[in-house]
Amino acid sequence: MRHIAIIGSGPAGYYAAEAALKHWGDEVAVDIFDQLPVPYGLIRSGVAPDHQSIKAVSRRYEATAQSANVRFIGNVSVGSDVSIAEMQSLYDAVVLATGAPHDRPLALPGEHLGNVFGSAAFVGWYNGHPQFADLKPDLSGETAVVIGMGNVALDVARILAKTRTEFDGSDIVAHALDTLDCSRIHKVVILGRRGPHQIMMTPKELGELGHLARACPRVDPGDLPDLGDDALLEPGLRKSVTHLRGFAAIPESHRADMAIELEFDFFASPVALQGDKQVTGVTVERTRVEAGRAVPTGETYTIPASLVVSCIGYQTSPIPGVPFDERAGRFANDEGRILPGLYCVGWARRGPSGTIGTNRPDGFGVIDKIVEDIGAGGGKQGRAGFDRLAAERKLDVVTFADWKLIEEAETKAAREGAPREKFVDVASMIAARRG
Ligand code: NAP
Repeated sequence: MRHIAIIGSGPAGYYAAEAALKHWGDEVAVDIFDQLPVPYGLIRSGVAPDHQSIKAVSRRYEATAQSANVRFIGNVSVGSDVSIAEMQSLYDAVVLATGAPHDRPLALPGEHLGNVFGSAAFVGWYNGHPQFADLKPDLSGETAVVIGMGNVALDVARILAKTRTEFDGSDIVAHALDTLDCSRIHKVVILGRRGPHQIMMTPKELGELGHLARACPRVDPGDLPDLGDDALLEPGLRKSVTHLRGFAAIPESHRADMAIELEFDFFASPVALQGDKQVTGVTVERTRVEAGRAVPTGETYTIPASLVVSCIGYQTSPIPGVPFDERAGRFANDEGRILPGLYCVGWARRGPSGTIGTNRPDGFGVIDKIVEDIGAGGGKQGRAGFDRLAAERKLDVVTFADWKLIEEAETKAAREGAPREKFVDVASMIAARRG
């Protein structure tokens, strides 16, 4: 029997568990830990609430979770309730699937002004992550600036633009829905330090901006490269740029009917956030793109802004004693190997890139490494040892069966047409587990 601990119950963690089951069948016991009492990581608290079809992948993780050889151990924080060294002494392999839960800092003057948020916090707020449920963003001003031109920036801009009705069928949490319903924002500026050919937005997600009930995208045709140059792009990016060209061609008469404008501001690198206590503007420097890089031109201007959400990427949370690559913002590793018996997978291994599906080959890849390292071996205490430790420390472990009770309570509490109303604090989750 091999005993494997996976720290983190998001996509990378569950794909790794699935791979372990595929390889060893009944000769493996996998414990999946999460610091929250609820599983699925980014599927629950990162994927946009109006993208329910993406969230449906959790059914696949549930199938893995239901295996007798896999346990969910929620409400246990590895690093504080149990140390990594203790986990390594108990399990033949410990896999860090902890994702990248922290915002990369902007590192700009004014970053700590009021109503400036990183996307981890803002997305966590509208998705009901307990850490960010009390964020209370002020949406009473007119202009929001979203920094970055990736899919997270798109999520944030779209969520700020949607009407209450457009959230029908989503699992956006009530506190966010009510706050957004009272929003006075009528302009969202999406800021990119490079040009249309360098966006990180994927076509399906970008195309959604063209179909909103009260919001309309604006692209300055003068920012678009020559049409012929699009032929050099890889197909996905070419499709995205085609959407931008479509947005640039939207007639002003159509815009006039729209309450919210989503303005793409290309070649604009933020250099400072203005304001006294609360943010009032973002100063940006014009850039030009040379050999794919943003080159500052020295020309600056300030965009008035009452809300700023920085969507410039994420970094992994370091764990004491685990080698960390500060520059890359993830664990230092060689194809998933960190130290003997210690591995990482998903965003904790490669940084915050790719789709949910990208984590599947990653999960299978890390199990291949573990097979190479301990294929015939094993023999540590695993589950039994952890259960003894948890009892000694009186850890209030949440099992998968407990999660199903929490899920049932969330489903029962759902507003009409919504799949669930999430609990947004740990105490309520625990209480629901106890019925
Ligand atoms: P991302 O795709 O890496 O985009 C980050 C953006 O921030 C880029 O436009 C980048 O510009 C910009 N940026 C970085 N540092 C900056 C700085 N200091 N100042 C100004 N701009 C800066 O990251 P993400 O949007 O956080 O997404 C993370 C991953 O999750 C991606 O793989 C994404 O596709 C995925 N995701 C997918 C979905 C979906 O499929 N529906 C939804 C959300 C997220 P440069 O390119 O110039 O560096």
